[in-house]
Amino acid sequence: MQLDYIVVGLGLSGLSFVEELESHNKSYVVFEDASQKSSRVAGGLYNPVILKRFTMAWQASQQIETAVSFYKNVEAKLQKTVVSELPILRRFNAVEEQNNWFEACDKPILGEFLSSELIRNTNPALDIPFHYGKVKHTGKIDISSMLSAYAKKLRENNILIDESFEYDKITVAKDYIQYKEIKCRHIVFAEGYGVKNNPFFNDLPLYGNKGEYIIIKSEALKQKEAIKSSIFIIPLGADLYKVGATYNNQDKSPEITSTAREELQKKLDRFLKVPYEVVDQVAGIRPTVRDRRPLIGTHARYANMHILNGMGSRGILLAPTMAKKLYNHIEKGISLDKEIDCKRYKNL
Ligand SMILES: Cc1cc2nc3c(=O)[nH]c(=O)nc-3n(C[C@H](O)[C@H](O)[C@H](O)COP(=O)(O)OP(=O)(O)OC[C@H]3O[C@@H](n4cnc5c(N)ncnc54)[C@H](O)[C@@H]3O)c2cc1C
Repeated sequence: MQLDYIVVGLGLSGLSFVEELESHNKSYVVFEDASQKSSRVAGGLYNPVILKRFTMAWQASQQIETAVSFYKNVEAKLQKTVVSELPILRRFNAVEEQNNWFEACDKPILGEFLSSELIRNTNPALDIPFHYGKVKHTGKIDISSMLSAYAKKLRENNILIDESFEYDKITVAKDYIQYKEIKCRHIVFAEGYGVKNNPFFNDLPLYGNKGEYIIIKSEALKQKEAIKSSIFIIPLGADLYKVGATYNNQDKSPEITSTAREELQKKLDRFLKVPYEVVDQVAGIRPTVRDRRPLIGTHARYANMHILNGMGSRGILLAPTMAKKLYNHIEKGISLDKEIDCKRYKNL
């Protein structure tokens, strides 16, 4: 079989790159083995503001436009709801935080995303003594059902191979790559934290950060907007809410833990005043990088081998933009900014 591309991994990164291939009529196959869960368990929120410090996330105001139209396009193709608008309310812990918020509202780009109105809590289920600030232009992507529907479509067209990619079966020639019976022009690795098993790119400083959510059911909560306090409460419908997430740099195991559940419940119990039941828990490893920037680009020795990774805790906004940059780099020779190019780490 002769193809333009092999893509390894169908998380947010792999899907974003496949969309580039589709729009340029390239031939490809995707390998996916369900070994990583980051995209599947993510909260799914898109929000350009860092809500701890009230600053903009890196290049987020440019990425948000690209991302929202990207997911709406996928939604139209899949004929399935993927994007929903969802306001995010930031719970203030003190008057000082309110003041910091209002200061941030006056800053040029931040001002577009932060509402300067103090929002009073009307939900008796929640203890919110210092009120909320509202982030504008935020929403939620139903990543898990988008990925399932996308995979189904690829599978129906014999483009998805539900197998682990075996790195030792690869032969790299000057103008092509041979993998088993497939000959392709390029290979793009988008394995998230799974890149640790990839001998061509595993010396990059992608450390990973484990995140866990609990899913709670509470009939009395009746909350429509997402709330950000020390943790997020994200409404899922049918009285279910995602609560979290944790951040753990040490534990890289895929399993859920009782430590995370206890930590999340302790934080939740500080401001949720009604009964709830924990009905589920999920865990995944965020593909985080030492300098908190994506890792994309071409292997130093193999011109037909590429990486699309390092989306950290903001894959929804980053992946569509980074996939486009990588595609333009490979096919049009457009250089990558040093900040995101994997070659910024010399030991590759
Ligand atoms: C708890 C948690 C909450 C989060 N919340 C948000 C959020 O609200 N908003 C946001 O923007 N981001 C969030 N993130 C971050 C976001 O999930 C990541 O940035 C994003 O999912 C990374 O996508 P990816 O495709 O690069 O990696 P992954 O999602 O890890 O996808 C990689 C894929 O490659 C496959 N794979 C790996 N190795 C192989 C192999 N050898 N062969 C075949 N397949 C392979 C894996 O099975 C996997 O499907 C969250 C992450 C976590 C863990």
